[in-house]
Amino acid sequence: MELFEHLGRHGYEQLVMCSDPSVGLKAIIVIHDTTLGPACGGLRIWPYATEEEALADVLRLSRAMTYKSAAADVPLGGGKAVVIADSRTQKTEAMLRAYGRFVDTLGGRYITTTDVGSTGRDLEYIRQETRHVVGLATSLGGSGDTSIMTGLGVYMGMKACAKEVWGSDSLRGKRVAMQGFGKVAQNTAHHLMKEDAQLVVTDVYDSALDKARELGLKVVAPEKIYDEQCDIFAPCALGGVISSDTIPRLHCRIVAGGANNQLLTEADGQELHRRGILYAPDYIINAGGIINVSTEIGATYSAERAREKTERIYEIIGKVIEISKREEIPTALAADRLAETRLASVRSIKGIYRSCR
Ligand code: NAD
Repeated sequence: MELFEHLGRHGYEQLVMCSDPSVGLKAIIVIHDTTLGPACGGLRIWPYATEEEALADVLRLSRAMTYKSAAADVPLGGGKAVVIADSRTQKTEAMLRAYGRFVDTLGGRYITTTDVGSTGRDLEYIRQETRHVVGLATSLGGSGDTSIMTGLGVYMGMKACAKEVWGSDSLRGKRVAMQGFGKVAQNTAHHLMKEDAQLVVTDVYDSALDKARELGLKVVAPEKIYDEQCDIFAPCALGGVISSDTIPRLHCRIVAGGANNQLLTEADGQELHRRGILYAPDYIINAGGIINVSTEIGATYSAERAREKTERIYEIIGKVIEISKREEIPTALAADRLAETRLASVRSIKGIYRSCR
């Protein structure tokens, strides 16, 4: 990879390699874009097979954060950090603190939070070395569990899609097939059940399925979920699940769920569009988490304010649908247009001349 050429072409501002062999720390922090505010994104701790793989992941994820915050109208830029380690066996307090000291050297240009492999408990160690941390427990003045707002946002996004497809945003009696019944799915289900939607769910963990059965939900085997007759298919587990293999099996009018990176390729977004299945772009509908932590910055966290802002996902999905119809493009591309328009508008106000494509 010609690094500077790649960074320049995609608008990356800063790439920071952090090394502390005494504690086994190999970290990469990427600040993609700070047009809208300090870069914010989670810390992923993952045993990448190669350094190239770690670099590619952090570059991709940091840029996605720029788009997510821009489209959600959150005053934050995009950033991300990865630590190359196995979080189950190699993560230590010393490593996390060393990482925190590197975050601190950036003076607030990057604000860290949790992602795969890092937890709220880890943030407490990092917080001892830097104040540029969000997503702490509510007992520590933070915004706590992000999945509560993420679940609310997914529900609001489903309602906005329902309005477009059925002319009413009521989900009463609608059948929703949920892939994965973890934190986000359970919080989404809470709202859906209050509205008398019908749920059919799957998961690979028995504990998650037990929870679903306790709630009286229909449970199916993981491979069967794609074939369920439903109104809404909700990916709430892994990425890459909407693909040329799975699209022909879907019997739904809407794909709307909390998982990140749902489309395996851009062509899969086009295929959903061609088949008349409305896709709620993942980074728009699952923005409740970043909205929640953003309300922690520079003010005392208020769940009420976070809820109010998260509910706006309904309008944002509406705008995406409008762009998609007007420009005759898939909703995934319409979401990118929305984010890019927001960035371009703030750049022009600030007199910043560059592109992030
Ligand atoms: P989670 O770990 O609580 O839940 C995920 C669930 O999916 C688990 O119960 C797991 O067993 C299940 N699962 C994994 N593979 C599966 C498969 N093949 N089939 C069926 N189920 C499977 O995680 P979460 O916090 O609920 O996050 C879910 C998704 O939402 C992830 O893609 C995450 O990146 C995304 N997301 C989460 C948040 C948040 O606030 N937690 C915010 C934005 C996006």
